[in-house]
Amino acid sequence: MEQAEIGLIGLGVMGSNLALNIAEKGNRIAVFNRTPARTGEFYEEAGSLKDNIVPCETIEDFVAAIRPPRPIIIMIKAGAPVDEQMALLEPHLQQNDIMIDAGNANFRDTMRRFDALKDSGLTFIGMGVSGGEEGARHGPSIMVGGTEASWKRVEKVLTSIAAQYHGEPCVAWLGENGAGHFVKTIHNGIEYADMQMIAEIYGILRDGLKMDAAEIAAVFAGWNRGRLNSYLIEITAKVLEAADPIGGRPIVDMILDKAGQKGTGKWSVIEAQNMGVPATAIEAAVAARSISALKDEREAAEKVLGLPAVPPLAVSDKAAFIKDLENALLAAKIGAYAQGFAVMAAASREFGWSLPMPTIAKIWRAGCIIRSQFLDEITTAFTRDPHVANLIVTPAFAAMVRETDGALRRVVSTAVLGGLPVPALAAALGYFDSYRRGRGTANIIQAQRDFFGAHGFDRIDGADSHHGPWGSGLGTGAA
Ligand code: NDP
Repeated sequence: MEQAEIGLIGLGVMGSNLALNIAEKGNRIAVFNRTPARTGEFYEEAGSLKDNIVPCETIEDFVAAIRPPRPIIIMIKAGAPVDEQMALLEPHLQQNDIMIDAGNANFRDTMRRFDALKDSGLTFIGMGVSGGEEGARHGPSIMVGGTEASWKRVEKVLTSIAAQYHGEPCVAWLGENGAGHFVKTIHNGIEYADMQMIAEIYGILRDGLKMDAAEIAAVFAGWNRGRLNSYLIEITAKVLEAADPIGGRPIVDMILDKAGQKGTGKWSVIEAQNMGVPATAIEAAVAARSISALKDEREAAEKVLGLPAVPPLAVSDKAAFIKDLENALLAAKIGAYAQGFAVMAAASREFGWSLPMPTIAKIWRAGCIIRSQFLDEITTAFTRDPHVANLIVTPAFAAMVRETDGALRRVVSTAVLGGLPVPALAAALGYFDSYRRGRGTANIIQAQRDFFGAHGFDRIDGADSHHGPWGSGLGTGAA
């Protein structure tokens, strides 16, 4: 029998859709699942794609079915299960076979796994896949990290299944070891910020302007035809339009306001902090999910404190304010993306990856959850200047910030005065205001640090004295 071009382990939501996508694009694929009944079920459901699928009940049969050097996608629950699965697979593999973890791994685990296989003759790819179930089935965005040789072995298959943006495939090799999973993590961090900012704008429309779900849906649908055009804005309009099958009210009004999280947002923030890169909009978004989870505490606090005693939102011209909301969302989004790309630039230096910024923006233009027209503009900006310090100082984005930050300022101040929480929007505004100010206020922090801890400071005139005239208070020893 003809050998399969690739193998896949894990026929859950993502794995089964990815396998069908691979088969549909004319690639023969061997599949295996820990629970064999699922393999049979999957095969039966594959219909006309069965011809390209080799269902296997044992690891031995599975490995034998794949053409060496064997690329094997592992698409299972992230964490310890991946280590367990790799350990079960390894004794059956041969020189140059490639284990590909396509789940949402922490890139530090990917680096560890990559290093652990170094002397075994086997190789490892950490592959970020975005687009959810639909993307996996019809074209995800794929971020690959590993050796260039292992990428060459899988390039053709992955290119055939990736999403396309105007004919360009949304897949790329981004660098060695953890590069692919790192970029996927930051993709998700940006996604957290994007979603939180949309939620804050929704809050202003719902609680500030007292609009109902249908009216808010129309606002988002309108924005999706403009500069905010993106998958997340599109689905926001759609979810706001949907009716509850039980009772017929808007389904969003029936959904508990407690958001889940699986870790990629938190990892983005931890890595940003580790490298000293400000990612305040992403941090605010992760914290907002954590606050959302404290539902009982929030309800109890509302009983004790009450909602802020403030007048209704001061909006005299509703249409003009909604235009401000659109521009504010665009400005804040620029801040979040600038932060995400700055984190990737720092990681690229820290881990020696040479992450290609224009390529990353390119492969996010379609297939993934943050796909948007806006990413095409980011691609152009980074193509013109791949090593720019920050997206917001590229000519195109600097012009956009200058055009829209006034709206962000008006929206944040109106919301704050109206007692509505806008932590991610405010974080983006604070980021712009701090980043663009040549003379900040850290001189006072340096003076304080020197006063209590003799930490010293640099002088603006370059003169020699590096401690202040604090007298007996100097260097009392605190950290
Ligand atoms: P599912 O829960 O649908 O499927 C989980 C799969 O993992 C099943 O095939 C299951 O096998 C297998 N599995 C679980 N534990 C083990 C183990 N110890 N050993 C071997 N196999 C095991 O998950 P998803 O398909 O949603 O997610 C898979 C990966 O993809 C995760 O890392 C996830 O974070 C990532 N991902 C998910 C996205 C999504 O939208 N769902 C988007 C992008 C990435 P069995 O049938 O035997 O239980």
